[in-house]
Amino acid sequence: MFDKILIANRGEIALRVLRACKELGIATVAVHSTADEDAMHVRLADESVCIGPPPSKDSYLNIPALLAACEITGADAVHPGYGFLAENARFAEILAEHNVHFIGPRPEHIRLMGDKVAAKHAAKKLGIPTVPGSDGSIGSDEEARRLACGIGYPVMVKAAAGGGGRGMKVIHAEGELVSALALARSEAKAAFGDDTIYLEKYLERPRHIEFQVLGDGKGRAVHLGERDCSLQRRHQKVWEEGPSPALNATARDQMGETVAKAMREIKYLGVGTVEFLHEDGAFHFIEMNTRIQVEHPVTEMITDIDLVVEQIRVAADGDLGFTQDKLKFHGHAIECRINAENAVSFRPSPGKIVHYHPPGGLGVRVDSAVYHGYAIPPFYDSLVGKLIVHGKTRSECLMRLKRALDEFVVDGIETTLPLFRALAREKDIIDGDYHIHWLEEFLARGGLDQ
Ligand code: ADP
Repeated sequence: MFDKILIANRGEIALRVLRACKELGIATVAVHSTADEDAMHVRLADESVCIGPPPSKDSYLNIPALLAACEITGADAVHPGYGFLAENARFAEILAEHNVHFIGPRPEHIRLMGDKVAAKHAAKKLGIPTVPGSDGSIGSDEEARRLACGIGYPVMVKAAAGGGGRGMKVIHAEGELVSALALARSEAKAAFGDDTIYLEKYLERPRHIEFQVLGDGKGRAVHLGERDCSLQRRHQKVWEEGPSPALNATARDQMGETVAKAMREIKYLGVGTVEFLHEDGAFHFIEMNTRIQVEHPVTEMITDIDLVVEQIRVAADGDLGFTQDKLKFHGHAIECRINAENAVSFRPSPGKIVHYHPPGGLGVRVDSAVYHGYAIPPFYDSLVGKLIVHGKTRSECLMRLKRALDEFVVDGIETTLPLFRALAREKDIIDGDYHIHWLEEFLARGGLDQ
């Protein structure tokens, strides 16, 4: 096992990792920018190191500063959390060159899944169904025209290096194709430094269903069921739940086994998420994320498995803590991502929290790094915290969620709490009857104002 882990992140995920380290008896090092001196993860860690000024590129993305922090503190492993350097294969390699463990998959798998075109190829080869589309990146406009015609409009153009819901465009008819491709290429180049693009069938009413996997790097791998992340705004997840209201046990077992088998075949190491769009009973792979995800607590609540502990364990010893047949799913969990934003305009609202009262009680978990009097800095993402609620059934979970949302007090800044209070009372949500465009349509018709 590791002796000391440096947590190369901030906010709730830094605190989440810190908690897992403490329960494993591992010493912790927090790193922080000058804007995060008062952050909770800094207060609770055994040691802390300032790694630079507020902009992420000078601090949380500053590899030389992180290496120096490992050197100074004698940390033997780094947990990257999510975002920042979590899916940077080069960072993993540089750490290895300095005899520091990267708690995550091997660089070759980070690289493979970070290129969405290569990832789709790999998925196909591994027997995972993909979204119909171009077989690889697209070259000429003429080729794209032929492909789009074959796939059938509407199609989606995506950036091979895309992420975070960016770099995607819908093309409804052939007349829009050439200009959309040019725009997609230039945007992809500007945002990701890579103008490789590809085409996919645009699915009109799918759900986003993803499977959590865990592998030991030696050919053993399990799946931990699915999360339904269909409630999205601008392709960003807002509400996640598990199990999916749209799947039965047979469909779950079948697709879960397909992804676990694929992970065994590539000898995947660590936690990962295989993401699908699901429409008319069929799964279509879109991408794989090679990190712990924001929504991982949903899975933890219905499996009683601490995913971060397991992630650290396999990275250190290569041993899975359990086998597939030992894993039991129980009840239902829902996570709400509560942001420091106006609930109607989604305008960011950083600033000081003058009163903070998180909900509690049976089946209620709040993963957050804020506290009474804490000022949310304007430099990073606007996540205030995640409210995760568990119930024996989905309806119990929804009742508990409403109760917990009503208890939640965050004063001094605007938050998206009113959005969730409204969602938890919507008939389609209560019925589990929604798809990836449902939330945008709800917002467009002024659902929140009623
Ligand atoms: P990112 O890596 O940026 O998160 P993803 O490929 O995971 O991108 O897609 C994010 C979201 O975009 C999906 O959950 C879905 O809502 C939408 N999306 C992606 N591909 C398609 C598609 N082919 N058809 C319709 N929607 C899509």
